[in-house]
Amino acid sequence: MTHALAAAAAALALSVGGSPAAAASATLSPFDVWDPAIGRLDPALLTAIQDAARAAAAEGVEIRITSGWRSPEFQVQLFDDAVRSYGSVDVARQYVQAPEVSQHVVGRAVDVAPIAADEWLIRNGARFGLCQIYANEIWHFELATDAYGNCPPLRPTAAG
Ligand SMILES: [Zn+2]
Repeated sequence: MTHALAAAAAALALSVGGSPAAAASATLSPFDVWDPAIGRLDPALLTAIQDAARAAAAEGVEIRITSGWRSPEFQVQLFDDAVRSYGSVDVARQYVQAPEVSQHVVGRAVDVAPIAADEWLIRNGARFGLCQIYANEIWHFELATDAYGNCPPLRPTAAG
């Protein structure tokens, strides 16, 4: 791959998957608990995404995980990659959170693919406590419903 192509692929990955690494690595099933990206998720989130995956599968939608728990070191790498790709810390922060604030580092966020699964979760996730958090990240879900089972208003970006 030429450098220009690689850069274009990384930019595309950032726009659709949240990070170059998310698109470069194989996706996981929510039941692949042998992988720390799944196995180190917060237990309540793990149960929720597994329950949602069973319900989605019953409707013919497969839920895959592109990113779950991330080590602080990996989050640093993602953030640095994004700063390089976007050429600005402020723009990078709209797509990748710094390690000290990322819910992925504490196992409380999952990135879901493909888009059909994102759309299914946006419609049905609240039944399992799962909410889209950022308007510009349809793939990123956290346990966030209130006592009435409602998701909070979307934040514009990870920086907002
Ligand atoms: Zn995410």
